[in-house]
Amino acid sequence: MNQVAENIAFIREKITGAAKECGRDPGAVQLVAVSKRQDDDRIDAALAAGQRLFGENKVQEAQAHWQARRESYPDLRLHLIGPLQTNKVKDAVALFDCIETLDREKLALKLAEEMAAQGRDLPCFIQVNTGAELQKAGILPEYLGEFHDYCRYECGLDVQGLMCIPPADEPAALHFALLAKLAQEQGLLELSMGMSADFEKAIALGATYVRVGTALFGSRD
Ligand SMILES: *Cc1c(COP(=O)(O)O)cnc(C)c1O
Repeated sequence: MNQVAENIAFIREKITGAAKECGRDPGAVQLVAVSKRQDDDRIDAALAAGQRLFGENKVQEAQAHWQARRESYPDLRLHLIGPLQTNKVKDAVALFDCIETLDREKLALKLAEEMAAQGRDLPCFIQVNTGAELQKAGILPEYLGEFHDYCRYECGLDVQGLMCIPPADEPAALHFALLAKLAQEQGLLELSMGMSADFEKAIALGATYVRVGTALFGSRD
């Protein structure tokens, strides 16, 4: 499992290089290791290599991966990067440290209620459907301003940034640039964008979080 440690070192080097190349501080880009559908050995190897920030896209799988490990790693941080159903909000608020997939009013309200009930104030990112794809989650760009206001002022959520997953068949850079422009308009500082294939491009366009799975852990089940 030294391979995972090697991959992490390699990706960190690439992050640093991409940031420097465009005059950004490499420390301003955080690596979210996407551990969905990876086996225990690989996850433990990433932890042994010092990685502490992880992303998961399903609540139940995240519990299986992290509930016990959390206790040994108090500095662990978990981001939810997949769609969240309202009936899983309670478990999600209990487990995660950041919700990256805030995408509808019903969910915003439920998250706010549950955070209040549990006394946890989690930062959230709004997921934007930059490609306006029917099958994809996320708020459409034209409704972002209204939705952001709702999350912030009606629900009192701590919205810190935006997240997107570009369409597979279009140049990702166009979507990263759009997300950066939308964040600027909204006065939001965090940008979660870029995956294994395109995280360097995302950094050039302002990513503060890159979500890397296969390039770090190897291919998934
Ligand atoms: C799986 C996933 C990733 C990681 O994708 P890789 O191509 O394996 O790096 C990033 N973001 C989201 C939302 C994902 O679901």
